[in-house]
Amino acid sequence: MRFGINTLDDLAVQGKTVLCRVDINEPVDQAGGTLKDTTRIEACTPTLKELSEKGAKVVLLAHQGSDIEYQNFYTTAPHAQVLSGLLGKPVRFIDDVCGPAAREAIKALKPGELLLLDNVRFMAEEQTFFEMKLQLSHAAQAKTLLVQKLAPLGDLYVCDAFAAAHRDQPSLCGFEQLLPSAMGRLFEREFCVISSLMENPERPCVFVLGGAKINDAFLMMSTVLAGGIADTVLTGGLVGEVLSWADGKDIGEGARKFIKQEGYELLVEAGKALLARYRDRIVMPGDFAGVREGKRLEYPLGSIPQDILVLDIGSKTAQAYQDRIKAAKTVFVNGPMGVFEEAATEKGTRMVWDALGETVGYTVVGGGDSISATKKYGKTGLIKYICTGGGALIRFLTGEELPVVKALRHGSQLTTKQ
Ligand code: ADP
Ligand code: MG
Repeated sequence: MRFGINTLDDLAVQGKTVLCRVDINEPVDQAGGTLKDTTRIEACTPTLKELSEKGAKVVLLAHQGSDIEYQNFYTTAPHAQVLSGLLGKPVRFIDDVCGPAAREAIKALKPGELLLLDNVRFMAEEQTFFEMKLQLSHAAQAKTLLVQKLAPLGDLYVCDAFAAAHRDQPSLCGFEQLLPSAMGRLFEREFCVISSLMENPERPCVFVLGGAKINDAFLMMSTVLAGGIADTVLTGGLVGEVLSWADGKDIGEGARKFIKQEGYELLVEAGKALLARYRDRIVMPGDFAGVREGKRLEYPLGSIPQDILVLDIGSKTAQAYQDRIKAAKTVFVNGPMGVFEEAATEKGTRMVWDALGETVGYTVVGGGDSISATKKYGKTGLIKYICTGGGALIRFLTGEELPVVKALRHGSQLTTKQ
């Protein structure tokens, strides 16, 4: 038991049917029916291997994509193939979530065998829209079709989906009302790393916040600054631009227009409030870079031409951030410093990631695009901890109790099936 939640050490799984929720949501190439990345699938294999080797009948539940962006909304069939390869044993797939076919396949499982059900978000009650509009209690989630059909076939529930721990949905929070539950190894590890980062980071502790999710970045910033967790926050990406604007600096008409168009103008006021309280611990870019006719051009604050849209921090800022990162004992990063997908505006991100690879400090990187940057710059083996969960990580760092953590604490108190 850790953090009030059972671990796999606390469950006797031999011969038991274990319903195991994983987060193997990946970018999909719908035309080719393949996955463009497999990071999350790889991350949950230790739990699946352990359950299978201990003789559990393993039923995997997972979502793929969402009803908000249909681009990645897809079957989990390709995931079963990838999992089979990684585990070196067949992971059966069935194109049903909790209907008669899925239930028959679960009943037919033998100890050590694995079965992946189809995308749980094919069920209406599991959709993001449903979660946002209806906000079911955990007791009510236990009454949804998915849980009512599958819980009677399971003995135990394991959640290894830390990346989805901020989601309040039946496949994540419903089963814990009925089945003795535990967290998987990935969930346990991510929870431990992030908790120790929050409780007792080695100092100096530097947060590097960039990217485009300004709301999340501001929330995180106020939590880690108010709680004394971060000694310094270095800002880049749109986060740095909005803060500079809030600080009364001229970031150019291009950037201001873009920020307005994205609906982030309201956050300028939030930026002012942050600066009023924590100015001495927040670092903003001193120079920026933009593109003209395909060429990178750099400008110090105060001389950004009005027709240039800045899309990266400048080299001087990146150099200063490198020095701070190398001098830190703990570095947490969420969000790139600029539009690193384009050659002309990747320099700031590349320089920051180079420093992450060199520092002796404990480095943690979270967020989908930040993980892509880590791969792009070949730093995967050099970053101490890459957190698979972007949204969950951010909410954890804002101090919220995650819905899945709450549900798992409940399920950890159950000794028998309800
Ligand atoms: P993460 O996925 O790591 O949490 P975000 O999703 O918040 O990060 O931000 C990543 C996105 O932000 C990238 O697509 C990147 O191109 C974009 N971005 C970064 N800096 C800027 C900028 N200055 N202007 C516009 N977009 C930016
Ligand atoms: Mg992103």
